[in-house]
Amino acid sequence: SKPVIALVGRPNVGKSTLFNRLTRTRDAIVADYPGLTRDRQYGTGRVGHIPYIVVDTGGLSGEDEGVDPLMANQVKTAIEDSDAVLFLVDGRTGLLPADESIAKYLRQFNKPIHLMVNKAEGHEREQITAEFYQMGLGDPYVISSAHGDNVHESLDDILSSL
Ligand code: GDP
Ligand code: MG
Repeated sequence: SKPVIALVGRPNVGKSTLFNRLTRTRDAIVADYPGLTRDRQYGTGRVGHIPYIVVDTGGLSGEDEGVDPLMANQVKTAIEDSDAVLFLVDGRTGLLPADESIAKYLRQFNKPIHLMVNKAEGHEREQITAEFYQMGLGDPYVISSAHGDNVHESLDDILSSL
């Protein structure tokens, strides 16, 4: 069956912008995937001819997930149902404590985690990624969801690693 990719990160890092870009040619699909709720948005992306499912989530605060347990629970379910997690961070704000908390939270699932530095347009890769290495998630993908830079190439790489 189709691989499932969950988009996770704190609010405003660009998850929904990425979701829309990945699913641009297709409407969000819910009915095809029984058991999935409408509280998370599902769509279909494609690498070449190969379809995958992408899940947008409401975002994690990285602070006290008790603040919005319902939201945190939705994200948890999305992660559990996924084959890989795309963990988005914002290259313009740089690394925030919330990102580190989310990284810690994500590790407990034992899913492949792919770090993506978004909003990278107009920046040098080395400069925009430097501080994110301390999260211990390896080489980040560097993208601009808004402009489309490196988006499909990154997904191609991630999906071929599954
Ligand atoms: P979400 O809360 O993680 O879903 O983030 P959104 O997709 O709603 O985006 C939050 C804001 O960041 C919006 O104003 C987007 O237009 C902006 N944004 C998203 N991706 C990019 C990007 O690649 N570059 C820039 N400059 N802004 C972006
Ligand atoms: Mg969103």
